[in-house]
Order: sequence, then structure tokens, then C-alpha cells
Amino acid sequence: MQQHDNLIGGEWQKGNSYSPNLNPSNLGDTIAEYTQGDAAHVDAAVAAATAALPAWSTSGIQMRSDALDKIGNEILARKEELGTLLAREEGKTKAEGIGEATRAGQIFKFFAGECLRLSGEIVPSVRPNIGVEITREPVGVVGLITPWNFPIAIPAWKIAPALAFGNCVVMKPADLVPGSAWALAEIISRSGIPAGVFNLVMGRGSVIGDALVNHPGIHAISFTGSVGVGRRIAVQCATNHKKVQLEMGGKNPQIVLDDADLAQAVELSVQSAFYSTGQRCTAASRLIVTDGIYPKFIEAMKARMAKIKVGDALAQGTDIGPVSSQSQLEQDLSYIEIGKSEGAVLAAGGERLKLDTDGFYMAPALFSESGAGMRINREEIFGPVASVIRVKGYDEALATANDTEFGLSAGIATTSLKYATHFKRHSQAGMVMVNLPTAGVDYHVPFGGRKGSSYGPREQGKYAQEFFTTVKTAYTLA
Ligand code: NAP
Repeated sequence: MQQHDNLIGGEWQKGNSYSPNLNPSNLGDTIAEYTQGDAAHVDAAVAAATAALPAWSTSGIQMRSDALDKIGNEILARKEELGTLLAREEGKTKAEGIGEATRAGQIFKFFAGECLRLSGEIVPSVRPNIGVEITREPVGVVGLITPWNFPIAIPAWKIAPALAFGNCVVMKPADLVPGSAWALAEIISRSGIPAGVFNLVMGRGSVIGDALVNHPGIHAISFTGSVGVGRRIAVQCATNHKKVQLEMGGKNPQIVLDDADLAQAVELSVQSAFYSTGQRCTAASRLIVTDGIYPKFIEAMKARMAKIKVGDALAQGTDIGPVSSQSQLEQDLSYIEIGKSEGAVLAAGGERLKLDTDGFYMAPALFSESGAGMRINREEIFGPVASVIRVKGYDEALATANDTEFGLSAGIATTSLKYATHFKRHSQAGMVMVNLPTAGVDYHVPFGGRKGSSYGPREQGKYAQEFFTTVKTAYTLA
């Protein structure tokens, strides 16, 4: 079995043990073994990053741009291979895996340009004969902690801006899916970026993640994951004076109004709720449907869902792969029981599926007649489970959509310009979609939420510089 190690100070270094990376479509298939580090490996990685920082943070932007462009080109050239690895370890379909790998490559290429565009301001002082320069500088050594559901795109959208703006990195990928992040680290290690600028330490969050968050040599933490872990990290970062950026969960609403194009509304609801096995922070799990279209919508959803093919992520024709892990599958199935016990009607799916290979397969589930206050409509399930809430009209739909502790993405299906415009203005989500799925975003514009979904500056696009740089104001007497 192939074994993969941490990247620390430009060297591949063993941790204390190795852990197998299993294929959730076929538990008999082990992808490779990945090393498990501890706090000592974090110490070594932070020391390497700290040593590399003075030269890297003042390095020429052409060199940084070339390296990022090279990384992006290699990812794009190998998107089929990387996307297949991703699908094999995470369980999204091969097409989705290739799409995610493509996005990772595009992100690196975008930030190859972005590091050339970083600018500041020169303004006159209110005092005579004094000039003021406002510039952006690197934050320092940044710790990046990522979840399992986007094993290459999320590492990419944190690593690329961190490096573009002159920071050194210690990256901790999700223990469940280290393969794609390791492959990315291997590409970065050959990109011409000096040793120590980028480090990868694999292992458990409670060990490696915790050591990173509490390390005095780390200046900032960018985290994507669950609300519970994120809130704890926020407190630890505040206590230790670290800059922090958190992207967390969602309970995203998809409104369908009476005037919607039914076929389009059904298609985008199915895409939003169930594709990528519903394991997207931007997945829609609350389908808020007005009275007039409600019966037709339920019937059309059931008919469309009957055509969804759940199967091996790598098999041709699979629409939806397996759930990523045993514990996630147990969580998804437990919410089916919770929904039923709360009085919602299980209109379709929701059962564990036995297929040719031993994997974590589940039929996508739709609840109808669900109440906005039910746990299935308030708590993030993070699987292929959606529930339909019936409302009287647009005003109630909007109020229901906003009645959540989360605020990541929100969608509306309507042919009315009036309602679409009102919803864009009054939705309390960070990202709003009109006649589009709640999931599926571009790589060159800001990504992030409001309320309990996010904390700190936005990720991606030119907005990424807010987190990965710090502002300096310099005065000069003429
Ligand atoms: P998670 O359990 O919070 O884990 C996220 C990362 O944090 C993993 O690398 C994890 O390590 C690490 N971690 C765990 N405990 C830690 C600790 N005490 N200190 C520091 N790090 C720690 O989340 P997940 O289950 O991987 O991902 C699913 C969640 O991510 C969902 O809530 C989803 O909505 C959210 N998500 C949000 C976005 C967004 O942009 N808003 C995007 C994608 C996903 P290990 O797992 O390796 O042990």
C-alpha cells in the first residue's frame, strides 16, 4: 500500500502512524495510507514557515505569480486524474470531481493575476508637507483548516490567496479525505516555491487543528467546517490575538413561487438539494413552496427523484454517489426518523441502499408537509435530505427563508421581476440565486454567508485580500 507523508520545510516527513483512506463507494478499496502527525509536527511546520517568511513576504510578485500559474496549469492538465481521485475518496461523482479539480486550477490562475494587482493608496495628510501611504502587507504564517466535502477546491481557495499575498502556510486537510490535498501539496512542492513557504500536516482536527489554532507562531486561522468547531476556534483565536476567518454550515432555503416555471423549479431544487449527495454547505434543504404550485411541485419532484441514479461515484451514469462516511450516513438516517417523528411526511427516498459494492449509499429523501419549526428544518443535516414547507405567498416565503440561524445561500424560483428584486434585497443570506440552484458559485467573486454561517472577511475573488493581508499606514515628512 502506498504511504504518503507530511510536507514540512520542503521535506516529506513521516508522522507517528498511517491511516487508510477508504473509498465510500466501495469499502474494499483503500486509496492509500496517509500519515498522522501530532503537535510536534505542527511545531516543526510552523518553525519552517517562520524561517521562510522574511524572504517570501518580500519576494518579487512575478516569482509568486509564475509559481501560482504553474500550479494552476498542472492541476488543469491533470484534472481528470485529480477529479477521479477526489471522487474515489469523497464520493461525489467523477464529473463533479473533475469540475472541482478544474475550479481549483482556475483559482490558482486567478490568484496568479491577483498578486500582480495588489495596490494601495497615497493620500495627503491633513497636516502640511506630509504624505500618507496606505499599503497591504502579508499577515504572516497562516494556518488553514479544511472540511471533507470539497477536498481540493477549499484547500485551493485558501492556499492560493495566502501565497499570492506573501504569507507562509501550514495546511491541515480533513482527516477523512487527505488524498486530494496531498496531491495538491505535491504539485506545490515542485512549483518553485521555496522550502518552508507551504507545509502540509495531516492528522486529526482535535490534535493537528487544535495545535495550529493555539500555536503562538500562527498569526491567522482560516477555517471551513461545522458551526460547533468554528465557534470554538473563534474563541481560541480571540484569546490568542489571531486573525480568524470562519466559513461554516447552512440551512439554505429555496423558494418556489406560484408563478415559477415548474420544470425549472424542480430541476434546480433537485440540483440544489441532492447533487454532491447534498453534502455542500450551499445545498438547499428547505424547499419553501407557495400554495398554488405546492401539489404540482410535490408530484413533479417525486417523478424527477425516481429518475435519479444513486451509485458508485466512478461509474458511468451515476447522478449521486454515496454519503462520505459511516458517521455521516448514520446522521442522515437519524434525521429521517426525526422528521417522521415530528410529523413530516416522507414523500420519497430516505432508505439505505444495498448496491453491488459495499458503500454508504442512501436514496435521496424528500419530506412534504413539514413545519418551519421542525428540527429537520432548523438543523444542518448535511446529506441528501430536503423538506418542503408550504406557505401562503411571497411574504411568508421570505419570512420563512430568513427564519434561521444560518445565512449562507438562498434561492428563489419565480418569473416575477418584482419578487426576484425584492428577494435579492431582503434575503438575509450572503449569496442569493434567482432561478439558479443555491449551490454552484464562480471562483472570481466573493463567497460567504451571514449570521451563523460565516465570521470574518469573505473568501475568494479580490475580497480575499481582506483576510490574507494587513493594512499599514505610513507617514513621510516631505
Ligand atoms: P468539521 O468537523 O468542523 O471539520 C472541519 C475541519 O476542522 C477538519 O479538518 C477537522 O479535522 C477540523 N477540526 C475538528 N476539530 C477541530 C478542533 N478542535 N480544532 C481545530 N480543527 C478541528 O466539519 P466537516 O464535517 O469536515 O465539514 C462539514 C461542515 O463544513 C458542514 O457544517 C458544512 O456546512 C461546512 N462547510 C462550510 C463551507 C462554507 O464555505 N461555508 C464549505 C464547506 C463545508 P478532522 O475532520 O480531520 O478531524
